[in-house]
Amino acid sequence: MEAGLTLRFWGVRGSTCASGPEFVEFGGHTPCVEVRCGERLFVIDAGTGINAFGAHHRDRLPQRVDLLLSHLHLDHVGGLPFMKPAILDPSREIHTWCGNLDGASAAEPLGRLFSPPLFPITLDVLPARFVHHGFRAGESLTFPDGAVVDTIPLEHPQGATGYRFRHGGRSACYISDLEHSEPWPDPALLDFVRGADLVVYDGMFTQGEYPACRGWGHSTWQKGVELCRAGNVGRLAIVHLYPQHTDALLRELETQMQADMPGAFVARERQEISFAAVAATSPRRRRAARIAAVA
Ligand SMILES: [Zn+2]
Ligand SMILES: [Zn+2]
Repeated sequence: MEAGLTLRFWGVRGSTCASGPEFVEFGGHTPCVEVRCGERLFVIDAGTGINAFGAHHRDRLPQRVDLLLSHLHLDHVGGLPFMKPAILDPSREIHTWCGNLDGASAAEPLGRLFSPPLFPITLDVLPARFVHHGFRAGESLTFPDGAVVDTIPLEHPQGATGYRFRHGGRSACYISDLEHSEPWPDPALLDFVRGADLVVYDGMFTQGEYPACRGWGHSTWQKGVELCRAGNVGRLAIVHLYPQHTDALLRELETQMQADMPGAFVARERQEISFAAVAATSPRRRRAARIAAVA
């Protein structure tokens, strides 16, 4: 049977890191998610979690790493030069994909961020080769090996990009950072996530906190549940956790959320979630299956 779709969370904290005994269960790293479509690797965001991702995989990473950026706010790119085993291998290519700059790539802003005196060196000094791609959120990305990833623009200061991965008859969406609209769910976003096995969603604020943080570009778990219910989504993973939300509070929020949607959970750092393949995905295989069925 064809390999399925797997996600692993390497950083689930939003805005800035958290550290200390009350942040052990959910973790303190800022966003980074590993996505495996069968053997095919994608990495979403380069928050500080990408350091742990790189250290875990070391030299097992493919020669080409596709890094899909939700956007370029510091919590999503600040870990980039610390993906050490990947960055220090001269045979490796790091392809960044950025969809919220009117088609421009992340080359210029990342060049500004990673340069003296903000950072001791520029990225081009590192042994790995960086290739920066720009697109407009809403376009589908097609990679040289034929992999396709769909994208959607998200409501966030300076914009952000959501992603949908499909493999083996399964699909998962990454929808962060975003602020929910009024009314909700947004019809385009609802179409985008419809029928997915998993939606990873920005549930940074509690409903009590949200009114004071309106316009900051983030949402609540309740809006994630509403979106998933309306879109017939199987499971919901809450990410972009508020840095001051302790393990005890997050467990409590998770219990409340699961009363509304049993398949929902608050993502924990290093947690993995897999969906076994349920159908062949390539047209050739579908055709072969049809021929076999009528033979
Ligand atoms: Zn963020
Ligand atoms: Zn942001």
